[in-house]
Amino acid sequence: MSPADVRPAPPAWRLLLGYVKPHRWALAAGAFLSLLTGGAALLLPLVAKGLIDDLSRDRAITGALLAMSALVVANALLGALGSYVLRRTAESVVLGARRTLSSYLLRLRITAVDRSEPGDLMARITSDTTLLREVTTDSLVGLGTGGLTLLATVAMMGFVDPVLLGVTLAVVVGAGVVLGAIVPHINRASRRAQDAVGVMGASLERVLGALRTVKASGAEDREERTLHAAAEESWRQSVRAAKWTAAAGNAAGLAMQVAFITVLAVGGARVATGAIDIGTLVAFLLYVFYLMAPIQQVVGAVTQYQTGSAALARIQEALVLPAEPPSPAAPLPGPGAEPAALAFEDVRFRYADDLPYVHHGVTFAVPARGMTAFVGPSGAGKTTVFSLIERFYDPESGTVTLDGRPLGDWELARLRAAIGYVEQDAPVLSGSLRENLLLGRPEADGAEVERVVRTTRLDALVARLPQGLDTLVGHRGTKLSGGERQRVAIARALLRRPRLLLLDEATSQLDAVNEAALRDTVAEVARETTVLVVAHRLSTVTAADRIVVMDAGRVRAVGTHRELVTADPLYAELAATQFLAAAG
Ligand code: ADP
Ligand code: MG
Repeated sequence: MSPADVRPAPPAWRLLLGYVKPHRWALAAGAFLSLLTGGAALLLPLVAKGLIDDLSRDRAITGALLAMSALVVANALLGALGSYVLRRTAESVVLGARRTLSSYLLRLRITAVDRSEPGDLMARITSDTTLLREVTTDSLVGLGTGGLTLLATVAMMGFVDPVLLGVTLAVVVGAGVVLGAIVPHINRASRRAQDAVGVMGASLERVLGALRTVKASGAEDREERTLHAAAEESWRQSVRAAKWTAAAGNAAGLAMQVAFITVLAVGGARVATGAIDIGTLVAFLLYVFYLMAPIQQVVGAVTQYQTGSAALARIQEALVLPAEPPSPAAPLPGPGAEPAALAFEDVRFRYADDLPYVHHGVTFAVPARGMTAFVGPSGAGKTTVFSLIERFYDPESGTVTLDGRPLGDWELARLRAAIGYVEQDAPVLSGSLRENLLLGRPEADGAEVERVVRTTRLDALVARLPQGLDTLVGHRGTKLSGGERQRVAIARALLRRPRLLLLDEATSQLDAVNEAALRDTVAEVARETTVLVVAHRLSTVTAADRIVVMDAGRVRAVGTHRELVTADPLYAELAATQFLAAAG
């Protein structure tokens, strides 16, 4: 993800509160239970003081012992309940973030996907969101309950002996200063560790997406080094974060030991002078001991927050990537069943501001019904025409109209619902054949699926497969041949009953027999649908009602095969060489 995509994000704590807000009551309940736990524990030194007083005055200690036992049991029960409620809430926060992110990523603009690494985005959904769990419990709750417990403990200490409290606080403040210096290191290392996990996700996706090519190129060792380097970088940075976190934790621990010894010394002197009695000193020492937990909690909260804010920043970066354009305020009613007319009017387009123009004023019009073929050298901008029709991108200037209305006037989902698009490389998703066919119209009934399977000549394949339509096709349809994948993609598009069918070199990998059959099918479809095909085969091109010849981002000529062979030298050359070669 390039820095240019990233708008300054709100501070991490605001983001965190945003995710936590829906669960605030559960979180408050969990925190309250934890506080009660701490409160129960806080009473123990007072009971202990009573016990010691009883002992030294030769009184029975049964009452004090019973009170102590009750406190200990209450403490354990409340503690267990509180930690369950908190964990559960933290998991809900993670769930919320994962839902938000996955919904958002499915609705990203293609431009955002062009510029990001899918593996890195995946890491943001899976790994970074996980870190929110600890931030919620350890940071937010830790800071709340730890802070309150700390205050309560300090208050109790002041109640027991203000002088000893002053001694303790002096030590604690010193430790706080040290801690402040350590914290930024944890933040930096955590961010780098999470970024490295993202890099690793991206490398993994790259390798697993093309494992055959990697193996055939003998590139395993090199790719392995890339993967290991990312894993090691994450390790290095996590270790660095661990080092600083350990330093912070131990600085706090050390401070408490120092406080303990100092209180022992000063308190001992005060007992000797008779300023306080021994029970008071014991109670105070117990409080110093009790200070340990909330201080560790607050330190843990602060250090954990550093890791969490790095993750929150990464999540937020994914959430500010450009999303699909909003629908117009008053969208046109859903397109009817009539075939669509389409026109490009002086369309200029480039994929990014720093890239050259791909369309330099493309103009053509296609009436409803019939087949229009797009021909031209590779790189001419034919696939880009289809991308603009689907509104994966919008033109920089000029207009694309469907039935005379600019594409932006239609609600995006309705516009796309009117179109069946078979992409150039005929993508097939992992899952079953049936899932692939029904992707665009899950409600299509069995008879219709059967008919489309027949017209795209997939019936022989389906009959041959052990589980028929329910056979799994492998990652990206690797268990199918190229021609089979193309026919699956065509069948999928036809099942949508489109008003506008876009076929981008959709039959390039079919054998002659299948190609002829599919040509007949498409010709049949074109009687009631507007069909646009990008084709290299002469047989397909000559069957078209009109041909648009594109070259270097412009429309050179429009006409029939017969007209163009004489009128357009480029077309004549393509017809003589490329088409014939491909058709042969
Ligand atoms: P054709 O389908 O006629 O072969 P395309 O429309 O696919 O041509 O591509 C036209 C030009 O746009 C090519 O030079 C190609 O490199 C460039 N291009 C295509 N897709 C992208 C993209 N997503 N980002 C940047 N450039 C692209
Ligand atoms: Mg193309």
